[in-house]
Parts: sequence; structure tokens; C-alpha cells
Amino acid sequence: MSASFDATEASRRGVEMRRARAEFKKALRDGEHRLVEVFDSAEVPDTDAVVRGLRVEWFLRSIPGFGVTKTQRVLDRVGVSPTATLGGLRVRQRAALRVEVQALYRRYFPHQRGVLVVLAGPSGVGKGTIVSWITSHYPDFVLSVSATTRPQRPGEREGEHYYFVSPRQFQALIDDGDLLEWAVVHQEHFYGTPRAPVEALLDEGKNVILEIDVQGAKQVKKAMKSSLSVFVSPPSFDVLAERLAGRGTESEAERDRRLATARRELRRQHEFDAIVINETVEEAGQSIVDLVLASQRAQAPKE
Ligand code: 5GP
Repeated sequence: MSASFDATEASRRGVEMRRARAEFKKALRDGEHRLVEVFDSAEVPDTDAVVRGLRVEWFLRSIPGFGVTKTQRVLDRVGVSPTATLGGLRVRQRAALRVEVQALYRRYFPHQRGVLVVLAGPSGVGKGTIVSWITSHYPDFVLSVSATTRPQRPGEREGEHYYFVSPRQFQALIDDGDLLEWAVVHQEHFYGTPRAPVEALLDEGKNVILEIDVQGAKQVKKAMKSSLSVFVSPPSFDVLAERLAGRGTESEAERDRRLATARRELRRQHEFDAIVINETVEEAGQSIVDLVLASQRAQAPKE
């Protein structure tokens, strides 16, 4: 009696599991889950059995346009059998497959990733205030923290405003390819964007803002075509000079150097995807957010 009860119960659970798996595969195909996140979650033992029990083959084939042949090629490259499940991968297989999954995610689901927003504009134009406005009103926007050889100013915190490094440490970052871009700004100090944190945040779907100089902005646009470059312009050059003087954080010589850089930068503003004039922080911030959301929509696959 109890044996037949168990069999019924087991078969009922089997049906439920198959249904849940089918639903999950459909959600995956419809792009409701991020590929990389699903892959990573399968490593955690208490993740849903549906995810852990999903065959790697089906997982890969849930990518729209990714058929049998492409799937087999990936499996061959990483040495994983088609019947292996996401939760049952060995450490080495998992590491090799993760690299593939990440590349597939970036290639096939660009609209699920965040947008890289490059914000440039002359010193004193108000980029920092605009960024603070955006990040406090839109939690999906984050500011990337740069590395610099410039001395720390009073009130600046390591890892929050910058990573303050020595010229030798900066050179090591360049040599190891750890920077997405770098430049000597105001003919004096080195500034650069660490690559890994930016990529990880974009994978999570965050829109990452780089507040960098014009030379760096050009490098990023060249390396990442899908990025959005925005030049923040002052209402006039005089307004800029006044703002910089009012800030009082630089010596007179430094201020003059910054104004000279500003003149050069303003001449190049037409090279950007968009120009936003900083009349008020709210308007400028909202314009940038709207540009980012439009750029993300443009990357979504056509119905
Ligand atoms: P500050 O010394 O006032 O903090 O920054 C000076 C300038 O350096 C800013 O105008 C900013 O645009 C630029 N900057 C800051 N971080 C980076 C970076 O990572 N890369 C580049 N290329 N420029 C940066």
C-alpha cells in the first residue's frame, strides 16, 4: 500500500519538476533571467533544484539563435558532456564554461547589460554634482572609481573618490592591462579607469558612469562602441571661470592650467554622442538619464 503511495507521489513530483523546468527554460529564452547570474547561482547548493538540475546543453540552447551546432562547439571546447547539469559541474569545467557563458551573455544579451556612460567636460562644469544627483535618484546608476597619482585632497576618501596610487603602481596597472583607459590630465597627473569592476557592474545590469577627461573618453568610445559619450558644457566660458574660482580648491596656477585645458576640451565637444548644457543640475541629470535609457532600448532585439 505504502509502496504504491510513494510511487504516485514520486511520479507527481516528477511531473511538477518537468513543468517547472519547462517554465524556467521559457523564462530563460525570454530573457527574464540573466544568463551569468543563473549560471553562478547553480553553484550554490541550496539553489532551486530546477536550476541545478538543468542540463548545460539546454541552458546554452535557451539563448535565442544558439542552436545545436554552436552549443556542441562550446561543450567540446570546455570538455563538458551534453548531459551534464548546471549543478553537477566540476570546478575546472565550471571555470572554463563561465568564461564562455560570460562572452555569450555579452554578445547575445547586450540590452540586459548596463550602459557605460562616459561623462566628460571641463573641470568645474559640475560633473560631480550631476553624478551625485543621478546616483541618488536612480539606484541603477553607479559611478566608477578611478585610480590616480594626484595627491589626496582634504575630505577625499580612498576607494570612494579615487584609488590613490604611486606612479609605479599606476604603471603596473597599465602594463597588466587592468585599465579600460588612462590619461595624463592637466599635463600633470595620471588618471585611469580600472577595467574589472566596470565590467562586473555592467554584467549586473548597472549603468556605469565614468567621469573622465576628453582623451580618456575617446579611448573608451573606441574600445566599447556601445558606450554613450556625453559632454557636459557650461552655459558660457565666463560661468565656468567663475565656478572654478568659487570652488577655491585649486591654486591660481592650477586654475589657469585647468581653464586652458577647458578651452581645448570645449573645442572637441562635437566629437561626443551628445552635449548636455549644465543650466540646472536636475535638468542636466535627467537629460543624461533619458539618453542612457534610450540607448539601452535601442540595443534590445527587434520584435
Ligand atoms: P580632479 O583632479 O579634479 O579630481 O580631476 C581632474 C580631471 O581628471 C577631471 O576633469 C576628470 O575628468 C579627470 N579624470 C578623473 N578620473 C579619470 C580617469 O579615470 N580617466 C581619465 N582619463 N580622466 C579622469
